[in-house]
Amino acid sequence: MTKVYNFCAGPAMLPEAVMQQAQQELLDWNGQGCSVMEISHRSDAFVALATEAERDLRDLLGVPDNYKVLFTHGGGRGQFSAVAMNLATKQDAAAYLVSGSWSKSALQEAGRYVQAHAVASVSEHNGLFTLPSEQAWQYPDNAAYFHYCPNETVDGFEIPEPPSVALPLVADMSSNILSKPINVSDYGVIYAGAQKNIGPSGLSVVIVRDDLLDRARPDTPSILHYATLAKHDSMYNTPPTFAWYLAGLVFKWLKSQGGVDAMAARNQEKADTLYGAIDGNDFYVNRVDPHYRSRMNVPFQLARPELDDAFLAEAHDAGLIALQGHRSVGGMRASIYNAMPLEGVQTLVDFMHDFARRNG
Ligand code: PMP
Repeated sequence: MTKVYNFCAGPAMLPEAVMQQAQQELLDWNGQGCSVMEISHRSDAFVALATEAERDLRDLLGVPDNYKVLFTHGGGRGQFSAVAMNLATKQDAAAYLVSGSWSKSALQEAGRYVQAHAVASVSEHNGLFTLPSEQAWQYPDNAAYFHYCPNETVDGFEIPEPPSVALPLVADMSSNILSKPINVSDYGVIYAGAQKNIGPSGLSVVIVRDDLLDRARPDTPSILHYATLAKHDSMYNTPPTFAWYLAGLVFKWLKSQGGVDAMAARNQEKADTLYGAIDGNDFYVNRVDPHYRSRMNVPFQLARPELDDAFLAEAHDAGLIALQGHRSVGGMRASIYNAMPLEGVQTLVDFMHDFARRNG
């Protein structure tokens, strides 16, 4: 098998050690004589696995006792609707910070259920994408919550600190959860699709503060209803069991690596290496205000965009795969989540230098 470094934005690469363990125990998990995929979610063995995965996630993020952790379906977009239905009535307003394409989609979806307003939007300023200062944000009256996306996967726009707002703060952490320490108490709801930093697609994780569990509109579908999911320990219906199992392996791997503090240091080093290569060569450009540059998704353009196809084809031949930018923005994007080793980034940077030298 050829060694590749996979820069896909999601579903993204998973730690090799995790994949090897999953392979080894695929047909016979935990001495059961069958796969973890093939056992009841209500069996003692699976419930023990599920409980341990939740405990590990709580340890990693320091989730306080007054928060529920839910393992559910529907991806990030499922939560775009679930958040609105669980936290507000149709008459309520909701405040949305639009920092890129995913928060814009979240705002649009919420608009089906609540009076969703953009408090501020990302825009181009002196050629760089940035946000207006918090003092300039415009809040609707009677907002039930404030939603933002700390890391915009498509745009490579990361908001380093949570905004200080007086409303329950909802964060779509699909693409930067577990990449650094956070203070869970700053948030009312945190949610994430699993397929970047947690595990395979099909699973989403929701961390919700207890006092927000009783606000759902009565017509909220049961499988999106936080209180119902919490009451049934995320087993109201059949959860995505294999994805939950793999997430548990990823949590163990994270702990073995030193947890989110170690990840933060490693992720910073990877990001510095890649942005350093972009900034150090006129052949490449990144157009995000440096304050908001993402440590997880690094979009960049070539000074000569007519070479995009050649760049991608040659990178692919060199074992650097899935570097194409999102179809809405073009150019390149390197997603460098927790599982991407520094060597992968270094190999990409060496390739970029070489490509620029040959084509500059
Ligand atoms: N939010 C963010 C930040 C994302 O990156 C994505 C997917 N890439 C989504 C939401 C949507 O996730 P899903 O496809 O699981 O619905």
